[in-house]
Amino acid sequence: MNITVDTGSCIGSGQCAASAPEVFDQDDDGRVVLIESRPAETFHDLVHEVAQCCPVQAISLDEY
Ligand code: SF4
Repeated sequence: MNITVDTGSCIGSGQCAASAPEVFDQDDDGRVVLIESRPAETFHDLVHEVAQCCPVQAISLDEY
């Protein structure tokens, strides 16, 4: 899995950082900061849920 985030679309709702703090953080403006673009497999299901819950679809996942 490779994660990319669109910080321009992010509205800073913070769900991603709250749900998966090992993978996502927020900057001072509340926008998403990607901590780990290739998370361990144990996080994959959680990351899928987080991406689906992002209100502006700012989180993209590539599987490989
Ligand atoms: S859930 Fe989406 S909109 Fe909210 S902080 Fe994360 S990337 Fe941004």
